Amino acid sequence: MYTMNYFSTRGATERVSSAEAILKGLASDGGLYVPAAFPQVSLSEIEALAPLSYEERAERILRLFLTDYTEEELQGCVSRAYSHTFDDVRRAPVRTVGELEVLELWHGPTSAFKDMALQLLPQLMSTARKKTGEQDTILILVATSGDTGKAALEGFADADGIRIMVFYPDGGVSPIQRLQMVTQTGANVSVVAVRGNFDDAQRGVKEIFGDAAMAAELAALHTKLSSANSINWGRLVPQIVYYFSAYADLLAEGKIAAGDAVNFTVPTGNFGNILAGYYAKRMGLPVGKLVCASNANNVLTDFLQTGIYDRARDFYQTLSPSMDILVSSNLERLLYHLTEDKAQVAAWMKELAVAGKYDASALLPKLKDVFWAACADDAATEEEIRTVYGRTGYTLDTHTAVAYRAAEGYRSETGDTRPMIVLSTASPYKFAASVLHALGAQTAGSDAFTQMTLLQERSRMAVPTRLAALHDAKVLHEGGCEKTGMAEMVLAFART
Ligand SMILES: *Cc1c(COP(=O)(O)O)cnc(C)c1O
Repeated sequence: MYTMNYFSTRGATERVSSAEAILKGLASDGGLYVPAAFPQVSLSEIEALAPLSYEERAERILRLFLTDYTEEELQGCVSRAYSHTFDDVRRAPVRTVGELEVLELWHGPTSAFKDMALQLLPQLMSTARKKTGEQDTILILVATSGDTGKAALEGFADADGIRIMVFYPDGGVSPIQRLQMVTQTGANVSVVAVRGNFDDAQRGVKEIFGDAAMAAELAALHTKLSSANSINWGRLVPQIVYYFSAYADLLAEGKIAAGDAVNFTVPTGNFGNILAGYYAKRMGLPVGKLVCASNANNVLTDFLQTGIYDRARDFYQTLSPSMDILVSSNLERLLYHLTEDKAQVAAWMKELAVAGKYDASALLPKLKDVFWAACADDAATEEEIRTVYGRTGYTLDTHTAVAYRAAEGYRSETGDTRPMIVLSTASPYKFAASVLHALGAQTAGSDAFTQMTLLQERSRMAVPTRLAALHDAKVLHEGGCEKTGMAEMVLAFART
């Protein structure tokens, strides 16, 4: 067996184990940790996944990257993450909807795909803390556009030796997303509304991570910062699993033969989910195209079509708020893998920070080889929910609708008829008002819980019990701050 090391996408030469990469979150030079190689999975190993449970598939993929964890440790982490908290025994089932396959990634405790990673990350992190002999308290800082925050709170609540503070954009998340967060229980959690948008919150968190004086003050409080945002390697690696799992499911059902290429369409925000698909492809999973679907915040559509990343544009609050992002942090990892040139990546990231723009058009042939991109505005999203429901009886959430439309667009524009798997990232119940509106239902004056009932009548899917229970949950976190006040909030929490 080999040892997998990790290093920064920028300049630093340090090499760390996976446990260290997961504990630290971000490399010391501000770069993202990447694995030194892509472990290869043969076709026969992929075929061997077909009869296995999701947990068993996860162990087989994770151990290729997390070589410093023992088999027992990995088995324990995976079992605690997925075995009791998901409402479907298949964890991430694939369902045929019309011409396409839909991979449902929202059967975890918060009804969105973030659970796939954030149920496992705290397990990996607690184990890493023990393995490395870390004595300080780990303080997790999260900037969320909605779903990450709750999923992280749910994963980390009452975790040993770890505390968590979540910042969300005030007014920038759905009423249910807000309720999910502000009712979170656990002695080690804090939730703060930032008066700004998601990018403001994310930038604030990044600045805190880069602030040496802040680190010193926290060190005096025996506290070290870490991240649960999708830049953490421990967030990315669990997501690779479900690409293999979906392929294994199609094999098991006889829908494809081993070696047949399949395409995936991914509703994209921070580029973490789709990047995991890129990793799976590089590991040998037969993937044709990865279709990147965006909403009106289509900075990635433009990037994948021109090679120029330009964040200087209007920011829209859309019906798919978890994709309302102008700076997709995980793209940095892709840039590294396509160039293997740290100086170049560091230079682009500097241009992005200073000028809001960089030109990677030299990469365009490589980008187009793997990716295809499309975007859908809110009107198109609603139309997609309505037409797919009318045609198939299946109810898409707003994020998945953006992807479903992009997948259909890809097929009709390119004529590529290989099986297409659309990643479904949220239960329609999480965005019930928008989905009902798209379906033409009258919702004026009704609250989020009435809307769940209305949606149940139409979708004939059960209301997730955890969402229904929010009705009677107590609000525990009412705090807020200006976008310039985040560091002060962190220090105040660390002192308690
Ligand atoms: C986070 C999220 C996305 C975007 O995923 P990225 O990994 O940030 O690209 C899409 N849909 C939903 C529902 C999400 O919560």
